[in-house]
Amino acid sequence: MLLSNFPRVSLAHLPTPLEPLPRLSERLGGPEIWVKRDDCTGLATGGNKTRKLEFSMGQALERGATTVITVGAVQSNHVRQTAAAAAKLGMRCEVLLEHRVENPGPLYLNSGNVLLDRILGANLREYAKGTDFDAEMEKIAGEIRAEGGNPYIVPGGASNPVGALGYVGCAEELLRQCDEHDVAFDHAVLASGSAGTHAGFAVGLRASGNDLPVLGIGVNVPQDEQEAKVYALSRATAEYIGKPGCVVREDIVADCGYIGPGYGEPTAGMNEVVLMLAREEGLLFDPVYSGKALAGLVDYVREGRFAASQKIVFLHTGGVAGLFAYADIIDV
Ligand SMILES: *Cc1c(COP(=O)(O)O)cnc(C)c1O
Repeated sequence: MLLSNFPRVSLAHLPTPLEPLPRLSERLGGPEIWVKRDDCTGLATGGNKTRKLEFSMGQALERGATTVITVGAVQSNHVRQTAAAAAKLGMRCEVLLEHRVENPGPLYLNSGNVLLDRILGANLREYAKGTDFDAEMEKIAGEIRAEGGNPYIVPGGASNPVGALGYVGCAEELLRQCDEHDVAFDHAVLASGSAGTHAGFAVGLRASGNDLPVLGIGVNVPQDEQEAKVYALSRATAEYIGKPGCVVREDIVADCGYIGPGYGEPTAGMNEVVLMLAREEGLLFDPVYSGKALAGLVDYVREGRFAASQKIVFLHTGGVAGLFAYADIIDV
C-alpha cells in the first residue's frame, strides 16, 4: 500500500514463506524462532537484493536505461542478483568488484557468486579495496554515454531510498503473514550490511504503525558507524514514501559484536550455526551475512537476552551461493 506510486518490475517470487523452526527452538531451549525465507526470492539463487532490485530496475526501465552499473565485493550476492536482473530485462551489466578480503584463495576468486556473475554475462572489472567507487562508476557511465548508451547506476547493495522500498514491502508482507498465521513476534533479527534491508524494514514496520523491535547484526563496521548509516537511510526512505520521521533513532539497533576479524572473514560462531541450521532444519546460510547474523541470534538466546516465552523472527537474506567460495574454509 505504501509503495503503489513507485515504478517497479516483478523479479521476485513473492510472498516468501514464513516458517517455524521447531527443531532449532528445541535445540536451543529458548524462544520460538521463525524464519522469513527471503533466500527464496528466486532470482539466480535468490536473496534479499531481488526485492530491492524490483524498484531499482523499475526506475532504470522507466528512464530507458540500456546498461546498469553496480559495485560489490568479489563474492557479492548483490552483484549476482543485479547481473541476473539485467539479463532478464535485456540490459547490459557493468560490475566493479572490490577486493575487500585479505589473501583470497582460488575458490573465493572464482567460485560461488563470481562464477555466477560470469555465467550471467556481466562485464567484471576488478579494483583494490578502498577505491572511490562513486567516482569510478561515474567515469564508466560517461564512457557508456559517449558510446550512445544510457547508463543507470545501482549503488552498492541497492542501498538507497529506491532500493530500500523493497524492504518496506517485505515488512508489509510479514505483517500480513502474521495475521494469516495468527502469530505475533516480540523481536525481528536480520543481517545489516549496506543498510537498505535494515532501514527499509524498519520504515515499513513503523509506517504501518507497528512497533516490532528490530535487531540488526552488523557484518562490516563498528556499531556507531553502522547505526548512523542505517538511521540516515531510514530517514531518507521514510521521507521518500511520504512518512517523514516515522523511524526514530532508538528504533535502530545494530550489534556489531559478531563480525570477527572483518567483513567476509569466517568466525567460529558462523561456522557452528551454519552446520546447526543445516543439520537441524535442512536450511543453508551463508558465511558473510546470514550466518553471522544467525550466530548473533543464537548467542542472544544462549545469553538469555531473548526469553523462552518470546517469539523471534529471523529474516533469512540468502547468500547461499557464497558457501561454495568458502568450501575450503568451512569446517565440517
Ligand atoms: C547484502 C546482504 C545482506 C545485507 O543487506 P544490506 O541491505 O546490504 O544491509 C544480508 N544478507 C545477504 C545474504 C546479503 O547478500
